[in-house]
Amino acid sequence: MFDQLTTPEFLEIRNGIRRFVDEELRLIERELGLDSEDPWPQEVLRKVWRRSSELGFYSACLPTALGGKGLSILEQCALKADLAASGSALAMHVLGDLGGPPRVGNMLKYATPYHLERYFKPVIRGEKSTCFAMTEPHSGSDAQSITTSAVADGDELVINGHKHYISGAPFADFAIVMCVTDSSTTPPSITAVLVDLNLPGVTVSHEYVPMSGQHIDADIKFENVRVPKENIFGGEGRGFQLGMSRINVNRLLHCPTMLGLATKVYQASLEYAGTRRQFGGPIARFQAIQHMLADMATTLWACESMIAQTAALADAGADLRMKAAACKLFVSERCFEVADKAVQIHGNVGVTKGHPVEQAFRKLRMFRIFTGTSEIQRNTIARAILEPAQEKA
Ligand SMILES: Cc1cc2nc3c(=O)[nH]c(=O)nc-3n(C[C@H](O)[C@H](O)[C@H](O)COP(=O)(O)OP(=O)(O)OC[C@H]3O[C@@H](n4cnc5c(N)ncnc54)[C@H](O)[C@@H]3O)c2cc1C
Repeated sequence: MFDQLTTPEFLEIRNGIRRFVDEELRLIERELGLDSEDPWPQEVLRKVWRRSSELGFYSACLPTALGGKGLSILEQCALKADLAASGSALAMHVLGDLGGPPRVGNMLKYATPYHLERYFKPVIRGEKSTCFAMTEPHSGSDAQSITTSAVADGDELVINGHKHYISGAPFADFAIVMCVTDSSTTPPSITAVLVDLNLPGVTVSHEYVPMSGQHIDADIKFENVRVPKENIFGGEGRGFQLGMSRINVNRLLHCPTMLGLATKVYQASLEYAGTRRQFGGPIARFQAIQHMLADMATTLWACESMIAQTAALADAGADLRMKAAACKLFVSERCFEVADKAVQIHGNVGVTKGHPVEQAFRKLRMFRIFTGTSEIQRNTIARAILEPAQEKA
């Protein structure tokens, strides 16, 4: 469990991050008067990435050879849970969750020296930001149905298409774009291409706001966008495998964020139950309220245990497909229940727009959709548990 991570090196990072959030990030938030539902100026975010990089946090998830601290997945989970529980609007930028090193970390092995110098090292240093663009308006869960195309023309590729709901796109410098490079096969051949987002023909627009209220997702349109063929990443026709290779760890790494959010609303509920008085005393003396708190505490413990165990398996190099899907399914559905109970305990305060409990309720609901919906996780789990039985039959 996270509190059992007690090596001096890890505690130094964990405490350092807490200080960075409390002493620097909250100050910026107060000075600018912005919270997680405001659009943040790009230059402020860039300063935060660079400062976090200076302090050694931004790329902490990467191996030491790449300038990181070689944190284990378990250690990353503990830090991400802390950051989500901090309630800081800038917390997600400390480890570069949106467009920084965690986005590229487990794909660096596919990078050529040109990719590293031009794209990935600047990301590691906090100078550039990226995003991963697979989904399209007509292609969600069925990711192989994308139609964005990259057609060879001499030494270049010409890209046309529309990517939808891409996290980090509003402030990304380049995107890792999944493109069809051969539509004559079934499924089509999909290739990852690195595309600078300031090129002629690229439009980034974010006319919608998800229920979390955050301004961190956008659509990217490509109209005859030309990039050199060297920008093919991971090999032609290897894009889908590349996307899938990062998805299991990504699913797992979303879980501590949900846990952190749910922990924060649980703690708020404990405090509220002790101070809110009805019928002549605190509502915490009603068994109905006690049972909700007891269920919340039990759920949080189960979620932390499951995350810690899945992370330990990831660190041991185990096949995570089924376990990461099960972890994301369980943690997203249960943490949303925790938020639902927190709203209930807070009564009218909990349904008031902008209250931290109401905000967490909306944020937690979204985790059941992205990085694979709950139904897609169940499909993955069902395949894993039924395949061996079907093979025997
Ligand atoms: C906030 C947010 C951030 C995102 N960030 C990114 C990003 O950075 N990059 C990116 O590429 N994409 C991103 N996405 C897109 C996300 O991955 C998709 O929304 C997700 O894969 C689901 O696709 P969909 O929304 O089109 O739903 P659909 O696939 O249309 O599904 C609709 C419903 O049908 C169900 N369904 C579909 N297929 C099956 C099936 N085979 N079996 C059972 N049920 C099924 C779904 O579970 C769901 O309930 C993001 C989405 C959101 C909301």
